[in-house]
Amino acid sequence: MHGLMMNYPLTLAQVLEHARHIHSSKRVTTLLPDQTFHSYDYTTLYERVKRLANAITQLGVIQPGDRVGTYASNTYQHLELYYALPCSGAVLHPLNVRLTAVQLARIVQEAEDKVIFVDGAFTDQFDELRKKIECEQIVHFNTSSAHPSVAYEQLISEADPIYSWDIPDENWAMGLCYTSGTQGEPRGVLYTHRSMFLHTLAVNQADVFGLTEMDIVMPLVPMFHAMAWGLPYASMFAGADMVLPGAKSVCIADLIAETGVTVAAGVPTIWAKVYPELSERKRDISTLRRLIVGGEAMPSALIEAYEKNLGVEICHAWGMTEMSPTGTFSKLRGAHQNLSDAEKWRIKAKQGQPIPGVELRLAAETSNGFTKLPWDGEVSGELQVRSPWTASRYYNIEPTTEHFTPDGWLRTGDIATVDIDGYMQIVDRAKALIRSGGESISSVALEASLLKHPSVLEAAVIGVPDEEWGERPLAVVTLSQPIRADISDTFKQHLAVEFPKFWIPDRFVVVDEIPKTSVGKSDKRAILEQFASENLRDRSSAA
Ligand code: ADP
Repeated sequence: MHGLMMNYPLTLAQVLEHARHIHSSKRVTTLLPDQTFHSYDYTTLYERVKRLANAITQLGVIQPGDRVGTYASNTYQHLELYYALPCSGAVLHPLNVRLTAVQLARIVQEAEDKVIFVDGAFTDQFDELRKKIECEQIVHFNTSSAHPSVAYEQLISEADPIYSWDIPDENWAMGLCYTSGTQGEPRGVLYTHRSMFLHTLAVNQADVFGLTEMDIVMPLVPMFHAMAWGLPYASMFAGADMVLPGAKSVCIADLIAETGVTVAAGVPTIWAKVYPELSERKRDISTLRRLIVGGEAMPSALIEAYEKNLGVEICHAWGMTEMSPTGTFSKLRGAHQNLSDAEKWRIKAKQGQPIPGVELRLAAETSNGFTKLPWDGEVSGELQVRSPWTASRYYNIEPTTEHFTPDGWLRTGDIATVDIDGYMQIVDRAKALIRSGGESISSVALEASLLKHPSVLEAAVIGVPDEEWGERPLAVVTLSQPIRADISDTFKQHLAVEFPKFWIPDRFVVVDEIPKTSVGKSDKRAILEQFASENLRDRSSAA
């Protein structure tokens, strides 16, 4: 027997309408390239989104379901497109501006983007891409230079302000986002209105992002990285103000002090980089209450530094572009309150519990499928997930058993443990796990331990080919202060406290900067390219 409730479609138009009706005076503030602020309220945003939706329709080149690219930083115009495109039936396709023109051209061609909206901050680099793609229409915003293209503000000012949202149904595609390509070619994930709506509700629970109407939220995570982790929708549904940092690299402490940010989100690299600036306390950052951190493991040493020295709560999240992106979230429970601080930071450094709505399982592949592994915090296995906001296949790629199990779970490509309370901890990406003499070595665990050394600022461990053992770990570090003693001996002794001898890297290399991917993760493929070709055994071990 079916129930008798309304079959009310779950769409992003509801998020926008709610923000406009209930939180109309809340503000979106954007740092402009000239370092001044642009600020308007949700009412103005709403009116502009309506006009923009009309303008998009009137461009005449976009049919419902067509993909529309955005080549932009985190700005109010990008936020407008986050609503106007999906709410007019088009598919928002944020392009990763840090990929090369060749990489992006492949993505744009596969997505068949009909129109691309280009941020003036990237006009020159977009011109490179433009030569390689076919796209019917380019619309520029935030630019003073004359372009033989359509101007965004003109489109909006000339458009009719009245528009009825045009979303065929809740399972209509709303966004297309490509993975950041850390381990291979980026793959497209096609979200629906329903999946993004449910993801928004899920992350807005008190024990997940926990955003409230009193928050001022700053996504430092780019809007092209996994839909800015859902924050453009979550913040406006919660009624929070938003601060968007624009394209220029900015002084984060200044931005927080001037706008009163309470919650900010970004990858660990960012927080490691800005920690010295924040801890100098030259600016008043006392409004900042919480950082949402993910994309890579957040080391416990950095969690401790933020929580102990700055009084800022760290919420460590794990997710994937394929999961809209949130999968797990690490928060302490009531039962943890009496633990020592060190024990609390150890738990918070885990990737956390599945957020309500997400199912996890640990699996081992056998000759006839998978067996389920126990949640004892010890046994590690392949992490598999499912949820209403997890991809069931990739865009334009036939589903294969490499990515999806026959019973419909996503194979994440991560190796993890899960403890009895459901806290998941990433051991490594399956492809990054170092296989030495038939045993596995976790690069993530070695990196976390190196980061506990007072002189280490950043660490990346990779497996380099070795004739005798198959692979051996090699550590690359940047230092916050010089080390007088022999670097290799220092780190070997440091790691020997926690790890068996065969885990200890044969070689430690000090570099000025660790190569990063387009979204700020350690680029282990680039590091490997740099070091694998060298005859490691012949080289002396210190930098
Ligand atoms: P890519 O796989 O190309 O990097 P994503 O940006 O979607 O694309 O990254 C998802 C992957 O990032 C996860 O499968 C996992 O390996 C890694 N990841 C995300 N969050 C964390 C985290 N908190 N700790 C460790 N790894 C993480």
